[in-house]
Amino acid sequence: MSEIKDKDLAAFMKGVKRRNPGEPEFHQAVHEVAMDIIPYIRNDERIKKMQILERMTEPDRIISFRVIWEDDEGNIRVNRGYRVQQNNAIGPYKGGIRFHPTVTQSVLKFLAFEQVFKNSLTGLPLGGGKGGADFNPKGKSDREIMRFCQAFMTELSKYIGPNTDVPAGDIGVGGREVGYMFGQYKRLMDRFEGVLTGKGIEFGGSKIRPEATGYGVVYMMECMLGTKGDNLEGKRCAVSGSGNVATFCAEKLLELGAKVISLSDSGGTIYVEDGLTSENLQWVMDLKSKGGRMSECVDGFGAKYYEGNRPWALPCDLAFPCATQNEIEAADARALVKNGCIAISEGANMPSDPDAIEIIRESPVMHAPSKAANAGGVAVSGLEMSQNSLRMSWTREEVDAHLKNIITNIHTQCVDKGKADDGHVDYFKGANIAGFDKVANAMLAYGAL
Ligand code: NDP
Repeated sequence: MSEIKDKDLAAFMKGVKRRNPGEPEFHQAVHEVAMDIIPYIRNDERIKKMQILERMTEPDRIISFRVIWEDDEGNIRVNRGYRVQQNNAIGPYKGGIRFHPTVTQSVLKFLAFEQVFKNSLTGLPLGGGKGGADFNPKGKSDREIMRFCQAFMTELSKYIGPNTDVPAGDIGVGGREVGYMFGQYKRLMDRFEGVLTGKGIEFGGSKIRPEATGYGVVYMMECMLGTKGDNLEGKRCAVSGSGNVATFCAEKLLELGAKVISLSDSGGTIYVEDGLTSENLQWVMDLKSKGGRMSECVDGFGAKYYEGNRPWALPCDLAFPCATQNEIEAADARALVKNGCIAISEGANMPSDPDAIEIIRESPVMHAPSKAANAGGVAVSGLEMSQNSLRMSWTREEVDAHLKNIITNIHTQCVDKGKADDGHVDYFKGANIAGFDKVANAMLAYGAL
């Protein structure tokens, strides 16, 4: 990362690093926000005096706990679980649960911090949080996953509630895991209430929730292209990942006439020059639901496969990073710009590293940050909470219309706060400032202590 020139920003980041040693992902997420917010609040004595940004970078609380479970061979296994309750100024803590061996406190703090801004942008009354465990679901049997989810919820249940903290899914946590956790919560509390989102339709889940993040990422792209009088028809789209966000992003792209030329997993990437068909995509979805690997697409439908989990060197018009953090680095960003990519909509959380962001910022490429582009997931989670409170269930069309509206509104906020005098829109700046304003105003209204 290049040297920080702004003195206030440098001093602020020095404090963040001192208070949070050994947490690089958290430092990165805070820096990405602070570089826009520090100049924005420079002359705002009230916000500075009340230490609003300092308070926003300090989680309300971090809960860390032991998770003990038994594997199929009867061995006792131990993992570490967390819930980071970052900020509840504008609503109950809300954010997903991640099960992946790379989960650390730093990763969850970065995700929880980002979540505060994202949830604010949705316009819904949602605070920010995130949780997870360093548990690796890969290769585990269904019974092992169930026992782990139950053990995790036995502890987590003490800290959450429909008006306190409402977790959802993330990497490694889909509908099955949410079902096991919700079942355990109900068993322990003897209450049927909207304490988790992403539930099955039969027990309070919202239509379109599984699809929402991926669809929203595409709606954001449509809005960005719309500012140039352009659309998705025939565009070559490089998509990374092959999980929940990536596959539903691909589904919506195909529906809207774009070409999906790639998907990937942590092992490698498939490249289909003429674009995947709907049948190919369905084949991938079935494969992934059974724990299959992208390499199997070679035999499945003749896709080209190469090792290396990034499609960013492929010639494309649009890019959709939908796998994980820091999957676009400087060289990837240079390749995207050089090959004529015109816009990037981020499905994964913080998929571009600081050097990549800088390179893209200096190019004409339109770049929607994750906190704006992937907010569709949490937005429909918010709608699931509303439906649970009302004891109602909206139709697919109703939820999709709400989702589209929310993303369009987020795009408008980014343009309002991120447009320069020459007309260029800095979507990162716009999202950071719009997300910050609402939370900061609520915190100011509550007073200092
Ligand atoms: P899934 O677990 O469904 O899929 C994750 C995908 O990313 C898999 O294809 C996985 O490959 C790949 N992946 C994971 N880690 C790596 C890595 N280190 N390198 C390369 N590929 C990797 O997760 P989701 O689709 O739910 O989440 C993807 C991203 O979207 C995450 O950043 C998540 O935080 C974000 N997100 C998700 C939301 C949701 O509603 N689910 C909401 C908002 C953001 P493999 O199978 O090989 O591990």
